Amino acid sequence: MTVTPMMAQYLDIKAAHSGALLFYRMGDFYEMFFDDAVAAAEALDIALTKRGKHDGKDIPMCGVPVHSAEGYLLTLIRKGFRVAVCEQMESPAEAKKRGSKSVVHRDVVRLVTPGTLTEESLLDARRHNYLAAFAEVRDAAALAWVDISTGAFHVMPLTPVRLGPELARLAPSELIVSEAKETELYETVSDFGVALTGLARSAFDSGSAEKRLCDVFNVGALDAYGTFDRAEVSAMGAIVEYLEITQKGNLPLLRPPQKEAEQRTVQIDAATRRNLELTQSLGGGRSGSLLSVMDKTVTAGGGRLLERRLSSPSRVLDTVQRRLDAVEYCVHEAALTSTIRDDLRKVPDLDRALSRLSLDRGGPRDLAAIRNGLTQASLLHARLDPAALPDLLRDAAHQLSGHDDLIDRLDAALVADPPLLIRDGGFVAPGLDADLDEARQLRDEGRSVIARMQAQFVTDTGISSLKIKHNNVLGYFIETTATHAQKMLSAPYSDMFIHRQTTANQVRFTTVELSELETKILNAGARAIDIEKRLYEELKSSVLSHAAGIGTAAAALAELDLATALAELSVTENWVRPKVDNSRAFDIIGGRHPVVERALKAQSGAAFIANDCDLSANADAAKVWLLTGPNMAGKSTFLRQNAIIALVAQTGCFVPATSAHIGLISQLFSRVGASDDLARGRSTFMVEMVETAAILNQADDRALVILDEIGRGTATYDGLSIAWATLEHLHDVNRARALFATHYHEMTALAGKLPGVDNATVTVKEWNGEVIFLHEVRKGAADRSYGVQVAQLAGLPDSVIARARVVLEALEKGEREGGATQKTLIDDLPLFAVSPSPAARPAKSSALEDALAQIQPDELSPRDALDLLYKLKEAA
Ligand code: ADP
Repeated sequence: MTVTPMMAQYLDIKAAHSGALLFYRMGDFYEMFFDDAVAAAEALDIALTKRGKHDGKDIPMCGVPVHSAEGYLLTLIRKGFRVAVCEQMESPAEAKKRGSKSVVHRDVVRLVTPGTLTEESLLDARRHNYLAAFAEVRDAAALAWVDISTGAFHVMPLTPVRLGPELARLAPSELIVSEAKETELYETVSDFGVALTGLARSAFDSGSAEKRLCDVFNVGALDAYGTFDRAEVSAMGAIVEYLEITQKGNLPLLRPPQKEAEQRTVQIDAATRRNLELTQSLGGGRSGSLLSVMDKTVTAGGGRLLERRLSSPSRVLDTVQRRLDAVEYCVHEAALTSTIRDDLRKVPDLDRALSRLSLDRGGPRDLAAIRNGLTQASLLHARLDPAALPDLLRDAAHQLSGHDDLIDRLDAALVADPPLLIRDGGFVAPGLDADLDEARQLRDEGRSVIARMQAQFVTDTGISSLKIKHNNVLGYFIETTATHAQKMLSAPYSDMFIHRQTTANQVRFTTVELSELETKILNAGARAIDIEKRLYEELKSSVLSHAAGIGTAAAALAELDLATALAELSVTENWVRPKVDNSRAFDIIGGRHPVVERALKAQSGAAFIANDCDLSANADAAKVWLLTGPNMAGKSTFLRQNAIIALVAQTGCFVPATSAHIGLISQLFSRVGASDDLARGRSTFMVEMVETAAILNQADDRALVILDEIGRGTATYDGLSIAWATLEHLHDVNRARALFATHYHEMTALAGKLPGVDNATVTVKEWNGEVIFLHEVRKGAADRSYGVQVAQLAGLPDSVIARARVVLEALEKGEREGGATQKTLIDDLPLFAVSPSPAARPAKSSALEDALAQIQPDELSPRDALDLLYKLKEAA
């Protein structure tokens, strides 16, 4: 079998990167071959062609242009592929020099994976893109994560059961685990849409990891950054190893690892995070989330900081107070806040620019971003009076200055708006480098230099018709008529003018000077670019030598952005500073749900009804509100808004309420709404019970728990019993502060039995047989559930509503008169009192009637009933 040298090279490289699609550079395209081509053509919806033969068969091929490769890369990564980018490492001319048959030398320069993206166009500016690693060493486990687009590097010890919740908090796009663990962890990980990457066990070896980390950070021991156990070192080491593999040794700039502790942030499990739609709505996007409503930041770094804070509210009182102080200061100093925000609007994404420069994926615009960002930072520094500032902002202000030399250097070196690519040139400011200025002058002014030379020749020779012209064959030449040519061919001019060509009536010459000028002009452009490239490298190095300081300044800018943005939010949306302390208070007056409030305003202009909630508990008692009220009254909204207010307060932000007093909460649990886990083969009821079990087993006396409609997924009495027992457990054992919504009115009796339980209800008014929702929460129990009225609102057919009223009346009457009569009454109800219209009558009524006769309604769970309903419908 003969294989072309190029194909042999391709196969070699492909064999070394079998887990990835190989983007094989050929001139202006990245080509893919064989199975890669088939998979990529389908995923990208591009044409599949063929090129040559291998083993007697056509080789499938497809390709994407290099200049638009980023978009294709993104699609492939989103679809779960990883891509090895293979570049030409020399020019075809260089290859030829090595031997006429040599193929251009190629090599993979980078492995593109979800967790290692750095391109601006592939990333969401306001979100972190985390690459995480999970390691277990003996009994300890740890999670490390890095955002290589900003260099942020973190690690925390972790009990393995907390992996899920932490993944939900950080939402990394890729998780590295030891190969041996891949299958075991697959299910946990796939729940969070995280790409799972298995690495050889050696990558997790904590001994070599320590050394690797010391090398990266250029320290003798990691102690400088804190104490790390072996699992933590192993997780961090795996990250560095993976970066080396994917970046082919070109390591991104990593900040020293920061150790996080579980005890410092509010524990929120994955389901609660999802249900409360903190950073993502249930639909999956950012819009409709709490984050989207709260985000008024004007810089990308500020946006990412808000996302980080909101994902991990603090439970350290001092931290919360410092942040609240900062926001309050900005609220009071409205004029200053608005000036600061205007300044910040001009701040580019320093972190990402820095990271691209360090990975050698940057360009002139990244240098300009550093210049502009630092310039704004020092401007802000001058604007702020440290003495007047609260702690957090004073610290930030101090970190904004100290880069004057670098700013001056970049200022002198760069034009105002540089182009994106180095190879386009034109980013170095004039006056910086004499050689560059000369090269550019030659290139740009080539024409006028030639014109001056022509004038000089005319004067020298006295031939006024002499011209300098240009064509593709001769390049620049001097042209004169045959008559004058004689003069130029004789002394004293014959020494100077060199004959090139004689045409019908013209004679063409050149001179040493002209041909030198020509080479200079032709080379000037290339030379200018070369000089610019060299200067770019110099500027890049000086930026990178300031990396740590630039990173700190970027963090300070983000902090300023966040404080002023939250102040702006508090003022425009009327949020107030919560009183946060170590008590067990939970007293909200006039609380609102910010997302529902905004949606109402946008949809109908309707006002949100603010509601109070007082769950303040004594030292070791519980406080639970048992909330009843019809569906659609606003129970879920009320539950969620109180959880959100607590979280927002501990994020260090003002809250949507008239006043709020919150004793720090340690954990937040929720069991709300229907779950989408049916796809995983668990029934809604099962999911509900699993989540409830987790709450009852874990909630401590500082937890805030919200439970919505526990027990709904099973038969009435089962459900009621479970809800009842759950509430008792929360009250007696967990002693949490809790909100408990239920449609079991029987439970309201608990308020009389348990000291910490209060009844509350969301009020409605009935008017002309219709129900009007007032959305007001007040103490006391709901008198009835209004289910039929809500069903009517939802548009159930009149016949069904009428029938339901008859049944309800009978049932209620039965209940009043005792269980025995209830049964007779139901039996007595005339069947099909309202007959369906002829059009709606089923054709196969007799078969259906048979099936109906088989049903024993009393023995069906709601779930079975639903299944049966589907079956019957299928049969119809
Ligand atoms: P429930 O849980 O009782 O079925 P929801 O909390 O889902 O009811 O609320 C139903 C709808 O009522 C919400 O989508 C919202 O439009 C509206 N709503 C809820 N609470 C309020 C409120 N406090 N003020 C105004 N409208 C509200």
